[in-house]
Amino acid sequence: MASRALAAWRQLIMLLALLFLDAAVARQCFWPGQAPDDAGCLSWRVMVEANNARGWRTVPAQCVGYVKGYMTRGQYLRDLAGVMEQASDYADQVDAGADGLDAWVFDIDDTCLSNLPYYETKQFGAYDPSAFKAWASKEACPGIPPVLGLFTALLDKGFKVFLLSGRDEETLGPCTTGNLEAEGFSGYERLIMRTPEYRGQSSSVFKSAMRKQLVDEGYRIRGNVGDQWSDLQGDCVGDRVFKIPNPMYFVP
Ligand SMILES: [Mg+2]
Repeated sequence: MASRALAAWRQLIMLLALLFLDAAVARQCFWPGQAPDDAGCLSWRVMVEANNARGWRTVPAQCVGYVKGYMTRGQYLRDLAGVMEQASDYADQVDAGADGLDAWVFDIDDTCLSNLPYYETKQFGAYDPSAFKAWASKEACPGIPPVLGLFTALLDKGFKVFLLSGRDEETLGPCTTGNLEAEGFSGYERLIMRTPEYRGQSSSVFKSAMRKQLVDEGYRIRGNVGDQWSDLQGDCVGDRVFKIPNPMYFVP
């Protein structure tokens, strides 16, 4: 009698579990509180971070709210801190040689300095070169603390740190230097920005050429940190690359 009642209970529990799963699948999600659109937008973000989605111009309209949530409610900072932890663990395994030629390369925008306040006013991803120039000229980009932590630790370990940015040197040189200094990024070896001869060239081409120059000077690029795949692919990318999340825009 007791075993029949137990079997009936098991059947009831199985039935309820199946009904829950069925409802979850129908809503394309498995966890309470996750909206159906979020699942599609999460897939899109993973494609972006894995460099499977390329050449996109704006965040898909249905994912603007999702990207805002990702960037402002903690997950972005958690993911970013995880990347910096991996980079820091790796840096601990590499010794900076006494010849002063072991180097790291850092991108600037949304790597050292955050443009999140700007993109909050731009629906998280609508790229507008002249508006961006006006924003950058204000020297108001907040530093990104976990990146500053890695940057400082690398300097303490004796690495040479190069900042490599696609920002235009003529128009944004002084404000970029000032902004970096104000946010604690000082002590780096060289700030390399886009000169007139590289205007109109892709970031990937420009950054490859600049890294090659460093290697030609004798530097060994041990690590390379950026929020775009174009920071991390091409020539002389370094022994290891670390991709900081950025679902807001794509730079070729
Ligand atoms: Mg960047």
